[in-house]
Amino acid sequence: MKKSICCIALALVMALSTVGLFTSCAKEKEKTLVMATNANFPPYEYKDGAAFAGIDVELAQAIADKLGMKLEIQDVEFGAIVAGVESGKYDIGMAGMTVTEDRKKQVSFSTTYATGVQVVIVKEGSAIQSPADITTSSKIGVQQDTTGDIHCSDDFGDDHVQRFNKGADAVAALVSGKLDCVVIDNEPAKSFVAANEGLKVLDTAYAVEDYAAAFAK
Ligand code: GLN
Repeated sequence: MKKSICCIALALVMALSTVGLFTSCAKEKEKTLVMATNANFPPYEYKDGAAFAGIDVELAQAIADKLGMKLEIQDVEFGAIVAGVESGKYDIGMAGMTVTEDRKKQVSFSTTYATGVQVVIVKEGSAIQSPADITTSSKIGVQQDTTGDIHCSDDFGDDHVQRFNKGADAVAALVSGKLDCVVIDNEPAKSFVAANEGLKVLDTAYAVEDYAAAFAK
């Protein structure tokens, strides 16, 4: 993993440095690379005690090391990352972030470094056995402003989707019977299912996506 993090980081540094972004950032922010993330997304970003950990955190640290910068991590709501990067508040957004056409209007994306899959979590024995079984009468939970939210709102209408600040809160609502399913990225889905008895991830994907780092245009 260490080696592949280094290779991906190098590729991202090369992609990002072609636009000269970090040369100017280095001057303005005294060699601090400010990364915005949402540390509720294991294994990409999470808190390990007081420290930040995860694939994106390691990647950002490797990028900062290669650039000779100090990494500062800001843990913010997922929906605040794109606007914050766009306005220059943060130098880079890394949060298992899916490249979308709408987000591309606000920020630039690096080359993609991982595939993300939107999956459906249900209770074992659920009548929902594939994404095609979800209807407007299903109680659907998502993490606010994520692609799970965007897809489900498009497919079933805004009013049929319940939005939570954290994926873990949506999963807790599923466990307590307030939801029929949660649509979320596959890696955190695996962690949530492992942490809660009686849940499973459906075999059929809801959507397949690419993750990339976001930076100002
Ligand atoms: N990949 C999803 C998105 O970009 C979710 C990311 C997240 O919750 N950190 O919207």
